[in-house]
Amino acid sequence: MATVTKIMARPQVHQTECFIGGQWLPAASGKTFETIHPATEEVIAQVAEGDAEDVDQAVAAARAQFDHGEWSRMDARDRGRLMQKLADLLEDEADALAALETLDNGKPIRDAKAADIPLVIDCIRYYAGWADKIQGQTIPVRGDYFCYTRREPVGVVGQIIPWNFPALMTAWKWGPALAAGCTIVMKPAEQTPLTCLRMARLAQKAGIPDGVINVVPGYGPTAGAAIVKHPGVDKVAFTGELATAQIIQREAAATMKRLTFELGGKSPNIVFADADLDAAAAGAHFAIYFNQGQCCCAGSRLFVEDTIHDELVDRLQQQNRKLRLGDPFDPETEQGPQIDQAQFDKILKYVEYGKQDGARCVSGGVRHGDTGYYIEPTLFTEVTDDMRIARDEIFGPVLSVLKFSDVDELARRANDTNFGLAAAVWTRDIGKAHRLAHRLRAGTVWVNCYDVFDAGAPFGGFKQSGLGRELGEAGLAAYTESKTVTVAMG
Ligand code: NDP
Repeated sequence: MATVTKIMARPQVHQTECFIGGQWLPAASGKTFETIHPATEEVIAQVAEGDAEDVDQAVAAARAQFDHGEWSRMDARDRGRLMQKLADLLEDEADALAALETLDNGKPIRDAKAADIPLVIDCIRYYAGWADKIQGQTIPVRGDYFCYTRREPVGVVGQIIPWNFPALMTAWKWGPALAAGCTIVMKPAEQTPLTCLRMARLAQKAGIPDGVINVVPGYGPTAGAAIVKHPGVDKVAFTGELATAQIIQREAAATMKRLTFELGGKSPNIVFADADLDAAAAGAHFAIYFNQGQCCCAGSRLFVEDTIHDELVDRLQQQNRKLRLGDPFDPETEQGPQIDQAQFDKILKYVEYGKQDGARCVSGGVRHGDTGYYIEPTLFTEVTDDMRIARDEIFGPVLSVLKFSDVDELARRANDTNFGLAAAVWTRDIGKAHRLAHRLRAGTVWVNCYDVFDAGAPFGGFKQSGLGRELGEAGLAAYTESKTVTVAMG
């Protein structure tokens, strides 16, 4: 658990106010809310609690910059250059940003340093490269006309993000929006506003004009809802829970906003008997326990071919015993606390459901320590498809192991969910891997690997796991409108 000396190594918090039109402002109401360190439950900072009034101001700033400012009219290559400058500043501050992420979210510093922040920088650099490569087409229409399309920025975009990868979700949202020439009103999650605010400061330092990026920290039903309803917002990009997305979809209908959603999952991770078992066991473990199980694409349903079931479960149990839980600022720590009390309670409730429904809890299932929201890595065997722990997104370190013997039946079972975000297949038979990859109804299928992300590779959900794609060219397209221009040449 956290020790006093390690807690003292926490980073400084610089930005806690709303960032609107290039200015740091308290909430119009004067209200603030607490953000806490999940490992110790201590208050880190008081953050401005923006609401509809602050959103109004932020939208006005974003609107003015979009409608009359230089950003969307700037030479695209110069826009890309400013984004590269932002990436440079992020790189200079990488260690401090990682520490701030660990402080606010509780994730192990080794993950924040090795995964979150490098991916943030890479994402901004990747989209910086797109800024001057957003092209239309020339269309051979009938008659004496010259017809072409332009890809224009969609306008002012509202971006609402969750707490599991706060800096990375900021980058995934800002990258394509900035490259396309949009302006932004972002609401970070109430649990984790700090890295997003710091990134806004770095964007300002990089020379990205005032009003391009605006950040309103606050609560979903107030600040978030105000963004969704605002007639000055052209598009909303959201990551979070399905139920919230459904509210947003209904509210956004009145103004016909463009919408993209990245939602939850109950991703099947499938291990065949012919797989490299060392790799599959390590991969299956990482797929669920990385980030404390707080991943939308977590491999939470582990389908194991019956002949290797006991061996694989044994290996997973051994890895759980070795997993180092503790102070997230300790570089040796591999699992930190869950984000907050609500998530902690939800996860332990599902552990109870698993037991009630007849599954066997063979490791974990209990709190770890007595401070912070730690839950021991939890493994259920004898899980059947109908159990709540096999159907619902738990969003914690809880793995459900299911047996299979027949491949056709397996594909049906793996797809028997309303989610469709990700899936994985572990086998040495590459033909079988491709055949199954094509049958799985998921936006991403990993073969002999898991959680391999790249800014160039589109990510998003089939079915109720989302709408549209982020990252890659597809992610950029979601921030543009196509305009057709037809010119009579006669
Ligand atoms: P939410 O969907 O509630 O939150 C995501 C973001 O949406 C937050 O910024 C939140 O604000 C905001 N929000 C909430 N209500 C509204 C609203 N009415 N209008 C506009 N914005 C709104 O997820 P939670 O954080 O509550 O997590 C609950 C569950 O969601 C988890 O247990 C998990 O299953 C899932 N989840 C999925 C994620 C994913 O990556 N797919 C990420 C996080 C959670 P506020 O800060 O007030 O919450």
